[in-house]
Amino acid sequence: MSTSARARADACPGVFATHDAADGPLARVRLPGGAVTSAQLTALADAADDLGDGALHLTSRGNVQLRGVLRPGLATRLSAAGLLPAPSHERVRNILASPLSGIAQGLAQALDKALCAVPELAELPGRFLFAFDGGSGDVAGEGADVCWRDGALLLDGTDTGLRISEEHAVEALLSVARTFLRIRGTAWRVGELPDPEPLLRGISGETVKPQAFDTKTGLPIGPIGDHAIGVAPVFGRLTSAQARVIAKAGNAVVTPWRSILVLGKLDRDVGLVVDPSASSLGVSACIGRPGCAKSRADVRADAARIGRTPRVHVSGCERRCGKPAQEHVDVLAAEDGYLVDGTWFPAGDLAKALAAKDSAEVKGHQ
Ligand code: SF4
Repeated sequence: MSTSARARADACPGVFATHDAADGPLARVRLPGGAVTSAQLTALADAADDLGDGALHLTSRGNVQLRGVLRPGLATRLSAAGLLPAPSHERVRNILASPLSGIAQGLAQALDKALCAVPELAELPGRFLFAFDGGSGDVAGEGADVCWRDGALLLDGTDTGLRISEEHAVEALLSVARTFLRIRGTAWRVGELPDPEPLLRGISGETVKPQAFDTKTGLPIGPIGDHAIGVAPVFGRLTSAQARVIAKAGNAVVTPWRSILVLGKLDRDVGLVVDPSASSLGVSACIGRPGCAKSRADVRADAARIGRTPRVHVSGCERRCGKPAQEHVDVLAAEDGYLVDGTWFPAGDLAKALAAKDSAEVKGHQ
């Protein structure tokens, strides 16, 4: 999207300012670092049942959305659960953190607190994204505007060469956000600035030659050590019943890959994906019809028939909501069918088209 097109107001939804979707008001609840306590998860499940469509919809930024919120009272419930600590800042608390890194998780909570204490930072665009990567490269590849990656400071995914200690990481990210707010003009993201260099002014740290770091995707699915498990609800739709089973196990971390790190043991099978070879793990899709009026198709119904495949994202229109930051096959609903990386196929041939593409790519690499 061009910078000039962004002169209009930023309309990222929150709890107070919901988005009018075809299935009713949509509320986005920010979870800095993806962290959610057992009690908060239960409150979200109750709110989804009592006020919304009965599910928590995980987002590609590790937040949750409630859809079809047709009854009042959501903000009161979420405030009571500690999920709206600073109403003025609710839409800017966009902070990713490596789910398995205690350091990154701790920094995310510290940044959240510090961010909410700076009144002017409530004016950041709702799309501005902070990230703390513990060093594994998992969230560093998620397209954050500013990321601390185990000491390295990245802007828009690129190493700046600045090295910042853990102790000064929060301060450095806040400094970037403050400067961005001052110089952004109509830009919503760091990547839209003609020159990001001014964002580093005033930050002290060691300077080294910038590096090209490796990134990796995702939380391991299945048991992680003896006391945690990675699970994934299909298409990121976590039913209230599934949320309650997770809450019973313990606290959790919602990841930007629409999976959840459960810090405890699940006491029963509630249909969450726990098998790392499950075919549904490779497929994501926007909400599509009937939830979104812009959609040309019921993309989730079609995506559910795809089967085992490399990374694919299926969208109902050109906005491609929720598409992964990593390389993937782009599937876009079109007149009477789908465009697979730009080539049209009838909806019924989607699985075949993707399988053929997969095998052609495998041969190409041999
Ligand atoms: S990609 Fe288009 S159809 Fe899908 S949810 Fe977004 S706006 Fe709606």
